[in-house]
Amino acid sequence: MKIEMKTPLVEMDGDEMTRILWQMIKDELILPFVDLKTEYYDLGLKHRDDTDDQVTVDASEATKKYGVAVKCATITPNAARVEEYGLKEMWKSPNGTIRAILDGTVFRAPIIVKGIVPAVSGWKKPITIARHAYGDVYKASEMKIDGPGKVELVYTAEDGSEKRVLVHKFDGPGVVQGQHNLTASIESFARSCFEFALDRKESLWFATKDTISKQYDHTFKDVFQEIFDAEYKEKFDAAGIEYFYTLIDDAVARVMKSEGGFIWACKNYDGDVMSDMLSSAFGSLAMMTSVLVSPKGYFEYEAAHGTVQRHYYKHLKGEETSTNSVATIFAWSGAFRKRGQLDGLPELVRYADALEKATIDTIESGKMTGDLARITTLENPQTLSSRDFILAIKENLEKVL
Ligand code: NAP
Ligand code: MG
Repeated sequence: MKIEMKTPLVEMDGDEMTRILWQMIKDELILPFVDLKTEYYDLGLKHRDDTDDQVTVDASEATKKYGVAVKCATITPNAARVEEYGLKEMWKSPNGTIRAILDGTVFRAPIIVKGIVPAVSGWKKPITIARHAYGDVYKASEMKIDGPGKVELVYTAEDGSEKRVLVHKFDGPGVVQGQHNLTASIESFARSCFEFALDRKESLWFATKDTISKQYDHTFKDVFQEIFDAEYKEKFDAAGIEYFYTLIDDAVARVMKSEGGFIWACKNYDGDVMSDMLSSAFGSLAMMTSVLVSPKGYFEYEAAHGTVQRHYYKHLKGEETSTNSVATIFAWSGAFRKRGQLDGLPELVRYADALEKATIDTIESGKMTGDLARITTLENPQTLSSRDFILAIKENLEKVL
């Protein structure tokens, strides 16, 4: 008897090597066990082009309707891709389009296995980064100052009234930058973080430099605190987790000395820098989960890496590949777990747990793909092909279930 589903998952297929893995995962790890229900959207580049990218919009709207989506990695076209695929247009990044429609925050967490040792020896549990994806230096206006003179910030309200503040009186040449953010965007960032912390039952840390930036960063601090006090304090108490605010430099020091197991909300720039530090310190981009959480509670699960183009060209030439499917498998398991929780299907949740356990057991037994075999501390690791790795997981999954 296969495990039953109620509500379909929104399935967004993708490109290149990850599209190949997608099909293998479905055929070997899902379809034999689950009576799979999905609403299928082909976000492969060819089909995006055929539909003038309407399929990406439709898939995002379907995510609003059903609540949970799982997405394969997709090509973001550049000039070379326009030529390779004969595209009508250089279509925008699908992730950007989906994010704009769902209005979310991206959470990335490492998948911890024995034998892949974090560079920071004290880290025992994953640290999840939540990166605000709007504004600050990424939407800044800048100017070079050629010589003596004064720079001011001027705000002109719609009624014509003005507020101004002096930035600096220059004695000589220099540089200047104007940044902004939106209260609405900070609010939805905060709510996404609080929702995610409750979902994961992990404490939430947030840090800015409010002692130095008394208006700008302080607004971030205040928005988080107000929303927490008004909407989340009781829920956090009930879940036995906490919201903790500190200064960004203090947060960095504490992260290094922590044993992990919390969510670290970062302003846009901090998140850019710190997520690369965390992912490399934990081992590999193919061992990261990634989920977009909207403030309205829609979830879109994906892998953190791209379509692994180099491996795909090897595959097309008929050569054997050893591409790591863990992040894509965990995208599926994350989506099944969430669907099972929302629909009250404990068997589906149990299947998600089993799929993850089987995957981790496989690696810990010494069977892995080439990227991990190169960095593992296990002795005599066995490097498997893309398909054999998935088949090894299947064998374990049959045992676990
Ligand atoms: P990539 O697909 O992340 O791969 C870069 C390199 O990282 C690979 O060549 C491979 O190294 C290693 N790698 C990444 N994932 C791996 C895995 N699962 N197993 C083993 N090794 C892995 O980035 P890319 O090749 O620069 O980009 C390819 C396409 O992906 C681009 O068209 C880009 O637009 C798209 N992209 C999509 C997303 C998304 O949809 N979320 C994100 C990023 C990029 P070796 O070659 O040394 O083995
Ligand atoms: Mg970066």
